[in-house]
Amino acid sequence: MAHGLLFISLLLCLILTVAVEAEVDVWKYFNAPFRSFPDTDERCGCKSHKAEIESAYKEAAKMIDAAAEAFTWINGRPFPDDNSLDSFKWMRIVVAMTSILGIEIDSETGWRLGPRDDYIFSCARNVFVRLQNGMKRDGKHVNKFNGLYCGTSGFQWYNYTSDDPTNVGQKVSDDRDRYGDMYWPDGFWYFNWNKFMLEEHTPTDNHLCPPDIVARATHELSFILLCDLAFASPPTVVKSKIENGMMLDEDELHHNIAHVFVHELTHYDGSLDNDILDQPAHDEDGNIQYRSDGTPFGTYHLASVYNLAAAKPKLTCKSAQSLSLFAMAMYLEEWTWDVEGAMDYPTWLAWRLDS
Ligand SMILES: [Zn+2]
Repeated sequence: MAHGLLFISLLLCLILTVAVEAEVDVWKYFNAPFRSFPDTDERCGCKSHKAEIESAYKEAAKMIDAAAEAFTWINGRPFPDDNSLDSFKWMRIVVAMTSILGIEIDSETGWRLGPRDDYIFSCARNVFVRLQNGMKRDGKHVNKFNGLYCGTSGFQWYNYTSDDPTNVGQKVSDDRDRYGDMYWPDGFWYFNWNKFMLEEHTPTDNHLCPPDIVARATHELSFILLCDLAFASPPTVVKSKIENGMMLDEDELHHNIAHVFVHELTHYDGSLDNDILDQPAHDEDGNIQYRSDGTPFGTYHLASVYNLAAAKPKLTCKSAQSLSLFAMAMYLEEWTWDVEGAMDYPTWLAWRLDS
């Protein structure tokens, strides 16, 4: 860490074995005083999005519950090969676990095939349990209050000659370390309780919501930021638009605020020590896919999620998009999702009886 200067890494983002349910009151989760309440403080920017956020968060909690329940249900359950709804459910869960998370399960016994599968299984299950528990706590994350912000209009730059927004009567330049050096010689970005200056930041651009960014989760600063782009999507999954053959990441399914919440919450409360990331994207041969500037693409699209499961299965439980797509697949319980796309129960049954 640079002397006296706080450099904090922000997670760059595009965009619950226990019989408990996630807490569904979003304002209880983001309960920091004057930090996130849309009713009392417009500075969070969320007031005009109150209803969307409430319904999105509720559905996100259902996705997290559905994912956690899937782990409990499938654990040690052999395939009931009788074309029943239970056999459909078994297939629905196992296909998603295998293709999205890289967990292989023995249909005869219902147990994982090997130690690696056991590792991924418990690793991913624990993420969802942490998310459920996080939603049940009193709105705190690593001993700081959870913040929710919408858009970046509340973030302001303060240079060293400015009045310090956190210390009445003082200048930013008055904030000194024990050697007498200025803590913030260049200034800082500030929003409510957070002062920060990131490496890519400039005084005129905090880079928090560039045009293609939907949302961010900042583990260290304890807030989730929904960019304007998030609100271009419906708050919840539009179930009426789901058809046989659809892929899990088709826009109709994938672009909704609830899924964004699950993705960001995995970074936020699902992580142990900030370890759930947007993993580098892999191609079909298991090679990392790079942009022209030499940085890797992120694992966001379904193909790269499948490729990650095939090439680096142990990373799937550290991949926000793999976990959030799995949760969405489990939530949409009328559909099985395999590499050919969605199948509902009647279609699956006809296909089974036919083959
Ligand atoms: Zn992300």
